[in-house]
Amino acid sequence: MKNGLLGFLISRPKDIPSADYCGHWVVDKKHCHDAWLHWNATNRCNFNCLYCFSHDDPQKKSGELPKINIPELIRSLDEANKVFKIRFTGGGEPFLVPNIVEACLEITKKHYVGFNTNLICDNVKDFAEKIDPERVANINASLHIKELEKYNLVERFVSNYLLCERKGINIVASSVAYPPLADEAEKYRIFFKEKGIPVNFSFFQGSFNGKEYPRSYTEKEIEQFGLSRLWLKKNYEYQGICNAGFNAGIVDPDGSIHPCFSMTKETLGNIYDKIEFKKHLVICPVKRCSCQLKNIDPYIFKKALEENLTLPGKIMPFAAYFSRRIRNQLFKLRIFCRKLNFFKPK
Ligand code: SF4
Ligand code: SF4
Repeated sequence: MKNGLLGFLISRPKDIPSADYCGHWVVDKKHCHDAWLHWNATNRCNFNCLYCFSHDDPQKKSGELPKINIPELIRSLDEANKVFKIRFTGGGEPFLVPNIVEACLEITKKHYVGFNTNLICDNVKDFAEKIDPERVANINASLHIKELEKYNLVERFVSNYLLCERKGINIVASSVAYPPLADEAEKYRIFFKEKGIPVNFSFFQGSFNGKEYPRSYTEKEIEQFGLSRLWLKKNYEYQGICNAGFNAGIVDPDGSIHPCFSMTKETLGNIYDKIEFKKHLVICPVKRCSCQLKNIDPYIFKKALEENLTLPGKIMPFAAYFSRRIRNQLFKLRIFCRKLNFFKPK
């Protein structure tokens, strides 16, 4: 069944990138799950990075640090009858959640976890010692260079990183390609490489000096940060069919689940009560998406495509998507022909 039309659709490189690093997030590599949740467990953070989307937000210092309700969480995951990958991330630092290691111990008995973390909390060591590395999809260690220097925490970041690596955890370090850092990018790359940590730069999304990024990167900055042109281009593409809400979702600190960051008005239940995924894929409702769930976890997107294409009742979104693509291509062809004066009256 993977040949012919279905094979063509599910193997299109345009929708399913093979890179491990997607320019903004690290693509998870563990392929053992049926669904994944992207959990913003707290808005509190021990840093206040200049480029953070919630820079100077009072929640950074005083936001709640809700404990994870482990029994209710495990019950609802069991009832959903799927193998989950839960990625702790979001507007704050997930390792600040008081019982995060205990929660991961329980979750990883059947499921998988991943993290976007600044890697400086004390309990990172506890995590590395206690959690089965086979059950950790990956840790994206966010290297916030200026904050680490300001609080004299560079060595702690390095030692936590190397500990995780020694324990067999799949870990990578990434830093934000914030334009004022461009001239120092190479210096920091070399510094951390000598410590045993290869660093990638991920593109900045936001405004700096009245310019919007990533659109405003200069060629020189792209070179200095080593940014992927493919991923910069993808950031501006129409997003098409997506598995947001079908087998992927985002979770708020209070446990409520939504299909994605652009569809926060829609809920898919609560992680402590009942998880109710959509019955089919969606056509992306926005022109530009800053957090393309299908590109962060291409495996689960491919799985969603396969499931949808084998169920006749779910084919409608595909029909709508392809008719829109064909219309767009015809429109472009018309513009092209006009430029060549094909339709010029004789
Ligand atoms: S560590 Fe992350 S969440 Fe915290 S301020 Fe920096 S970018 Fe924002
Ligand atoms: S906004 Fe992003 S995550 Fe949401 S449906 Fe569109 S592409 Fe998917």
